Amino acid sequence: MRSKEKALGEMVGRLRKEWRTPHPVRVALTTGLPPQVKGTCTRNGRTLHIHLNSRFPLYVLQEVLLHEWAHAITWPHARLERHQPMHPDEWALAYGRLYRWWYDEEEEEK
Ligand SMILES: [Zn+2]
Repeated sequence: MRSKEKALGEMVGRLRKEWRTPHPVRVALTTGLPPQVKGTCTRNGRTLHIHLNSRFPLYVLQEVLLHEWAHAITWPHARLERHQPMHPDEWALAYGRLYRWWYDEEEEEK
């Protein structure tokens, strides 16, 4: 749990530096999500909260974090009032860019 937290914390640090979000984002590892839910991105006031289900292994949570971060990047002002974000093309493009950024870079390190 500690090393998972550390690895994800470092990943969040890199995301914050390289992938700005229009709204502040807080990320937390939690045991409080339903067992089948890997992660969520929800709004509380002007802040977006990404929750990651700590039951899942790190490699799964890294991909979930990219998925949720893509929501944070593309979360439009109009949708701040919605509870459930959707997956429009805009989200898919942001996710694709994040996915390449994260996994292509890992490839290069091998
Ligand atoms: Zn989603």
